[in-house]
Amino acid sequence: MLFKSLLKYKCPNCKKGNIFSAKNVFSFGKMNSSCPKCNLKFNIEPGFFYGAMYVSYALAVAESIATYVICQFFFEKTFDLLIIPYIIGVILLLSTTNFKLSRVLWIYLFLSPKKEALE
Ligand SMILES: [Zn+2]
Repeated sequence: MLFKSLLKYKCPNCKKGNIFSAKNVFSFGKMNSSCPKCNLKFNIEPGFFYGAMYVSYALAVAESIATYVICQFFFEKTFDLLIIPYIIGVILLLSTTNFKLSRVLWIYLFLSPKKEALE
């Protein structure tokens, strides 16, 4: 349930309100400042989402490693420099998803559900 609402970019408290206003996966979209359903504030302090950059970096590294592992089956040398454009392409293609997913993961890490939502 938690994992499902995380991947759908839903509020960690009520699991109904959208964190982002845009539904398109490939757009950065506008992030709601608070949940439209339960009014949970997402940006709890100035600079709260700076930490999400580390999550985004970790996601990009994981995607790069996965791309490298998949690509090395199609190249003769173990480390072929021609793999790098594929890695850059995958990172650029998934950049909007990384942006959104890193912020949602950051929210789920630090904004715990209110007590009344758990009961
Ligand atoms: Zn909510």
